[in-house]
Amino acid sequence: MHHSDYCIAGAGIIGLSLALELHRRGATVTVLERNAPLAEASYAAGGMLASHDPENPAALQPLADLSLSLYPAYLAAIESLSQLHVPFQTYLTLQSHPTSTPADTKSLLPQLNPGSHTFVRLKERSIDPRQLGQALLAAVLSTSIALHPHTPVQSIRSVGDAIEIQTTTSTFSASHFIDCTGAWAAASSNLPSGTVVPRKGQMLAVALPSSLPLDLVIRTPEIYIIPRTQGPNAGHVVIGATVEDKGFDKTVHPIDIAMLQSSAAELLPQLADATILETWAGLRPATSDLLPLLGALPHRPRHLLAAGHYRNGILLAPATAHLMAQLLTNETPAIDVAAFAPARIAGLLST
Ligand SMILES: Cc1cc2nc3c(=O)[nH]c(=O)nc-3n(C[C@H](O)[C@H](O)[C@H](O)COP(=O)(O)OP(=O)(O)OC[C@H]3O[C@@H](n4cnc5c(N)ncnc54)[C@H](O)[C@@H]3O)c2cc1C
Repeated sequence: MHHSDYCIAGAGIIGLSLALELHRRGATVTVLERNAPLAEASYAAGGMLASHDPENPAALQPLADLSLSLYPAYLAAIESLSQLHVPFQTYLTLQSHPTSTPADTKSLLPQLNPGSHTFVRLKERSIDPRQLGQALLAAVLSTSIALHPHTPVQSIRSVGDAIEIQTTTSTFSASHFIDCTGAWAAASSNLPSGTVVPRKGQMLAVALPSSLPLDLVIRTPEIYIIPRTQGPNAGHVVIGATVEDKGFDKTVHPIDIAMLQSSAAELLPQLADATILETWAGLRPATSDLLPLLGALPHRPRHLLAAGHYRNGILLAPATAHLMAQLLTNETPAIDVAAFAPARIAGLLST
């Protein structure tokens, strides 16, 4: 049976970022992925590092701030291993916010039709999650991390000082098991079904019209518009997203895509006839308080969760990897993690 220090389930941005951080600290790491790596929420995301989105729960702020502070070093580590550059795509967001001093949108973006919105200027960055994912995967593959695609975790049990992980094909052993399976974490860790639920988001990408030079993000409670300014998707504008409770269904409905495009066109009329390049849907991993689950399960110190990052997993990946590695190596965490401890969820106390 193959034994490693850490066995991670799920090769999304959270699982792969944690694997890299644990490997950097000298540990042996195995990653088990049900399908192909980075094909779920981490591929579907818009890529806003939206640390000051007014819709974020207040308790998320310290984690978001830590993650932003770690982002440059996180990218540098990935770039140095992968030899692939991952630039920030934008540096400014116009956020609809009724109570604040309005930004001078006329000079920033004369094409914007604010309608009833008042916009504030946020110094916020965005990244292309697909470009990041490609570099992250290349970085992982350049190391001795054992990544097993098409290897779904079926069950986990404690055996003495180790955890045994049963997959469809073989059994793995590790000192600690970390569940990073996003929207699937309740099933993978055999937790009560509502612990993490999938929340569907449909999106589209259109070609940026030449009459619309766009290098900032626009966000209202209903819609966001994210231009890709560099890399393989430069010239694309990502428009999102629906927020739906439809279980694990990822069907894309043309009527919802048309609604998203027309909402975007109310703000930027040039987008009304923009050519649609791609449509897709992804599943955000949501907990009942919309905060991630970071740490060990109650009564199971060797079975940890790093899941439930909802709308902010791209933003939160560096801090999640950092804090989880600190918890796993008994270091004092960089911030207080009590608000993210799995034990806060009443249903988990009896698991
Ligand atoms: C439409 C949309 C827009 C978003 N926009 C943003 C944004 O702008 N900014 C931002 O920060 N975040 C955004 N997010 C949220 C972000 O995408 C997620 O929070 C993040 O990707 C979660 O990463 P993850 O690794 O936990 O999950 P995932 O990327 O879903 O990875 C989980 C992995 O676990 C695997 N798995 C499942 N079950 C098993 C099993 N039994 N055994 C082994 N593997 C298993 C899955 O196949 C999958 O590969 C968005 C999400 C969506 C859907």
